[in-house]
Amino acid sequence: MSRRSYRTGDQTLVRSMNLSTVLRCIWDDRPLSRTTIAAHTGLNKTTVSSLVTDLEQRGLIHEVGQRESSGGRPARLLDLNADAGVMIGVEIGVDFCRAVLTDFLAAVLWREHCETSPLAGQDDIIQTVLTMIGDAVEHAAGSRILGIGVTLRGLVDTSRGVSVFFPNQWRNVPVRQIISEHFDYPVAVDNDANAAALGERLFGAAGTVDDFIYVVVGMGIGAGICINGQIYRGAGGYAGEVGHTKLLHSNSRPCHCGQRGCWETLANQYALVERVQAALAANHPSLLAGANPLTVERIGEAADAGDPVACQALAETGAFVGIGIANLVNTFNPKLVVVGGAMYNVMSYLLPAIRQQVDECSSSELSQMVSIEPSVHGRDACAIGAVALITQDILHDPTSVPRYKNAVRIPEERG
Ligand SMILES: [Zn+2]
Repeated sequence: MSRRSYRTGDQTLVRSMNLSTVLRCIWDDRPLSRTTIAAHTGLNKTTVSSLVTDLEQRGLIHEVGQRESSGGRPARLLDLNADAGVMIGVEIGVDFCRAVLTDFLAAVLWREHCETSPLAGQDDIIQTVLTMIGDAVEHAAGSRILGIGVTLRGLVDTSRGVSVFFPNQWRNVPVRQIISEHFDYPVAVDNDANAAALGERLFGAAGTVDDFIYVVVGMGIGAGICINGQIYRGAGGYAGEVGHTKLLHSNSRPCHCGQRGCWETLANQYALVERVQAALAANHPSLLAGANPLTVERIGEAADAGDPVACQALAETGAFVGIGIANLVNTFNPKLVVVGGAMYNVMSYLLPAIRQQVDECSSSELSQMVSIEPSVHGRDACAIGAVALITQDILHDPTSVPRYKNAVRIPEERG
């Protein structure tokens, strides 16, 4: 390789890094003037102007007005461009798939939810996902599609986009490759809790919080652990499988992971339904008597009507969610724990019990420091997290988004 080509590559990398820096700077503290961006990043004003022009030509930012400055001309302000393009986020759950189409700032433009059978084969689920992505592309109606994010429960190899272990007996499914064979857009794949944590960081409750944990509660329990502003992934990339930490001895009920005594067997939606079934079997009077199927939604509706069986089962389940979260609080000392997932519709019943257990089971210094909040994205949290995977890639390398064809090419100056 010649020295000349080596230098060119290096400059391209530096420019890409500086574009990323300017875009992140605007993301963190928008709207900003060019002068403020220069002050925040340490880049000189000429370089900032060139980088801003580049980001404008890619459609990622735009001018939104002026701010009076002390002396001289009013400063023109730059903000993210919500219409930079649209993004598709897909959550593959154990018994459902959910897709959203959003703008660049994750405002949901369209959503689709599809129940699936936990017994459905891998091919059926993948076909459902491909159909939903096709629907999303149709609803994009010609808007520029920036990418497709996909989240799954279980172990995900993000670098290869492979579902290593999914509760429905999937092993080593090359999700990114399969989707890329059907759709010509960037595809990112991650574990649902990690993605939801990223979604909360970029678009939700944790925007300014560096140390927080996102706990997904549904068929299983998983956590996205954010430390110093970064998702903690562990040695193999599989950190956060907190649902399989043990709360009980080895004689207790089996978990789908093959072990016994796992936290999620006490606190997931099956556990909630089983508590209601046990009360009904003991002839406790309830609006849920004869309900078939007995779903989380129905239990929530019964609780809304003051049903004592539903309320008791929710309080007990919330307490077990809370005990596990207290363990996380004791371990990581987070400032915030966000709780979301498929049990979102009964979260208002779970949260008081969760907060009580965190107060009782974690050290007072830690429990006073932490707040426990529901996800601001509700049922869309993991799908928005999937979208955030695309956003994260664009923030990391804005050159992955091409310039609009009519953009004037600007000189590739240094920096
Ligand atoms: Zn387990």
